[in-house]
Amino acid sequence: ADKYPHLQRNQEFKKLTDDDLAYFKSILAPSALTQDEGDLEAFNNDWLQKYRGQSKLVLKPSTTEQVSQILKYCNDNKLAVVPQGGNTGLVGGAVPVFDEIIISTANMSSIRSFDNVSGALVCDAGCILEVLDNYVAERGYIMPLDLGAKGSCHIGGNVATNAGGLRLLRYGSLHGTVLGLEVVLPDGTILDNLSTLRKDNTGYDLKQLFIGSEGSLGIITGVSILAPKRSKAVNVALLGVSSFEQVQNAFKRSRDELSEILSAFEFWDKASIDLVKQHLVAGANDPLESEHPFYILIETSGSNKDHDDEKLNNYLEGLLTDDVVQDGVVAQDTTQFNNLWSIREGIPEACSKTGAVYKYDLSMPVPVLYDMVQDMRTRLSDSGVLGEGKPVKCVVGFGHIGDGNLHLNIMAEKYTDEVTGLIEPFVYEWIAKQSGSVSAEHGLGLMKTGALHYSKSPSMMKLMRRVKDMIDPRGIMNPYKFLP
Ligand code: FAD
Repeated sequence: ADKYPHLQRNQEFKKLTDDDLAYFKSILAPSALTQDEGDLEAFNNDWLQKYRGQSKLVLKPSTTEQVSQILKYCNDNKLAVVPQGGNTGLVGGAVPVFDEIIISTANMSSIRSFDNVSGALVCDAGCILEVLDNYVAERGYIMPLDLGAKGSCHIGGNVATNAGGLRLLRYGSLHGTVLGLEVVLPDGTILDNLSTLRKDNTGYDLKQLFIGSEGSLGIITGVSILAPKRSKAVNVALLGVSSFEQVQNAFKRSRDELSEILSAFEFWDKASIDLVKQHLVAGANDPLESEHPFYILIETSGSNKDHDDEKLNNYLEGLLTDDVVQDGVVAQDTTQFNNLWSIREGIPEACSKTGAVYKYDLSMPVPVLYDMVQDMRTRLSDSGVLGEGKPVKCVVGFGHIGDGNLHLNIMAEKYTDEVTGLIEPFVYEWIAKQSGSVSAEHGLGLMKTGALHYSKSPSMMKLMRRVKDMIDPRGIMNPYKFLP
């Protein structure tokens, strides 16, 4: 309770008893219950080590039927629960706030079917994203999403957070690529909507409600998702750029000149790559000869290597000739390809090794995207907290330019009310003025529940509350989070 002085445990929720444990033991294998304090640590703490719950029980069902029995029992007995996938979420959504029971999808990891003609993959919610990507790769396909946490995050967690990531520019969001879901509602009802159809206009598209619902409405147990064909020819280039304006010029030109083969356009600032170098992130070596204020990573994917190489080379030559970029390198082999991606994917890891990370993932018009980073630096400097020997060590900006998504990371010695008070609500007010979103892809969780109104109108929030109350009338699903 000390961890969250502004929150109080809802005393209407029942506390776990021996009778409850006896029930769970009657439906699950002994290894599917975790009660040992040491083992509970990993489930009670989040990836950032920022949020910490006090759950006394983790349940790891292995079938949808077991999830249904668990939720029905919890609903009948008013026991609060938190669904948990890979626990890589960055907004405190997957760990309990007080003593909620954690329901983990770790034991639900079977692939149910794969259609080699359409690319429709149907699998359990606990499948790890990277495992799925390897599975479809062997069949000539690719998962439509990719993120730095792919080795740990579950597809159910990805859907529950509507994860964006590195391939969104090319394949669109999960709202388009998810074909169907199997979801267990709080009262135990199994909602079977595991369609593999691309087109289905028979009534409300209810699966959309659960994409990005962050465990507030039910537990996703199965996912049907469309995997695109894996491109035969993939190139990646790293560019050094002198200003954010030129980053935008390079992006505009990439859409004109690379168009259909453009598959990723990422950027980061010098402060980001300095951290990657400082923490020697494995496999991430900067191949450029000199340092630059900004960096761009461009990926192309297509079906004809000669055609793609020519297009990319013409594009890069044009950028160098017109002084849009100062330097650049194209990966010549798989090792270099992985090396360039490791720099980008290593930034969150390098940030977390630097100290406590205040993370903001913000959506806004691209022209103002880097102003946010500079305004934050100015604000923290003027307040006397940013710099050597001060509470805040550095502020970095990176992200998915192609999606208008900035990751603003502020590294501090530790999480304090003083630093939080300087960042918030400033960052949210700033973003609201730009009609942006306080969460581009990480979701609301516990962190941004109170910031929802900066991005959603009162009428929208009211309707969201009505949906929540209709599907989860007893409020047992992931309480204290998501909706104020
Ligand atoms: P968890 O963290 O376990 O859960 C996240 C939320 O979903 C919680 O609210 C939880 O209650 C709920 N939930 C989980 N499983 C279910 C289920 N089966 N049914 C219902 N609710 C469920 N995110 C991006 O969008 N883009 C990125 O590029 C990106 N990069 C990242 C890089 C790193 C290094 C890290 C650590 C995280 C990154 N993330 C990114 C954030 C995170 O990985 C994603 O949000 C991911 O989708 C979470 O999946 P998970 O299985 O770990 O979910």
